[in-house]
Amino acid sequence: MEDLIYNKPHRRYNILTGEWILVSPHRTKRPWQGKTEDKVEVKTVTYDPSCYLCPGNERASGDKNPNYEHVYTFTNDFAALLPDVEAEEVNEGLFKAATEEGICKVVCFSPDHSLTLPLMKEEDITRVVQKWKEEYIELGGKDGINNVQIFENKGAIMGCSNPHPHGQIWAQRSIPEEIIKKTENQKVYWEQHNKSLLQAYIEQEKEVNERILVENEYFVALVPYWAVWPYEAMIVPKRHIQSIDQLQEEEEKAFASIIKKLTIKFDNLFETSFPYSAGIHQKPTDGKEHPEWHFHMSFYPPLLRSSTVKKFMVGYEMFANPQRDITAEQAANTLNALSEVHYLKR
Ligand SMILES: [Zn+2]
Repeated sequence: MEDLIYNKPHRRYNILTGEWILVSPHRTKRPWQGKTEDKVEVKTVTYDPSCYLCPGNERASGDKNPNYEHVYTFTNDFAALLPDVEAEEVNEGLFKAATEEGICKVVCFSPDHSLTLPLMKEEDITRVVQKWKEEYIELGGKDGINNVQIFENKGAIMGCSNPHPHGQIWAQRSIPEEIIKKTENQKVYWEQHNKSLLQAYIEQEKEVNERILVENEYFVALVPYWAVWPYEAMIVPKRHIQSIDQLQEEEEKAFASIIKKLTIKFDNLFETSFPYSAGIHQKPTDGKEHPEWHFHMSFYPPLLRSSTVKKFMVGYEMFANPQRDITAEQAANTLNALSEVHYLKR
């Protein structure tokens, strides 16, 4: 029954955001005559004198990076949010606005310019996880910071201006839209079932075992049932924890390990440095308990059928709702057939 439905055009529900997506599996055979992207060249230089993130180099602000040896964070020189902005509002008829304040930081994952998460050692990814945790606690603990968004834009195709391995953290007064939607939907489930929505979800996923990619003692990585991006994936802790500050030492290592395994699969898919936007969604730092929250990390990669053909979110997707051709199960099968050894290390 289910399989028959999944072969036809159908809609799937995203339990976290409360939104629907359209799946059109019959369209996967249509020929592609659209835009292709340049193939990503493999970086080989471990130090680039013109890179503003490499150790010892000067940034646009005039500040010099220290000769850092592992992970390194600093306040973004071109921050989208600024601290100490005086609270002001516009309320003139239908014109509504308010000032916003916050802090934007850059997290250099490694001093080695040539690396990416899948090519880093697990122990060094663990250091990145620990730094995320530290920043979440420190930034989230500040007065007037009610949400801490940790993310990585990887690849020029995702608008990332520098190939040095790095991510960002935007911490701010307001709670952003995605967090508001996910808070509401998790809260409804929590109040009805006294159980975490994502805990119930991963239990059901484990029963059917059709979309799971990698699993270890503490985490599971899968293509979510409601995936929008062709090879979208999500890492979920098995234990119901609200935010990364609750990770125990063994869990930090397991989180790093599953990030590495998942991103190796991504790179192996089209034998390229696989671009994506990845982000951690977790409980807001607004001082409330948020027992409904179950932290998770989502990966939204744009590539569709090769290292040069990407999915576009245009037309129907801009005006109606997201749509995909290959099903989440097909994407999971393709990823599961790939080696766990990085193609550059074979
Ligand atoms: Zn660099």
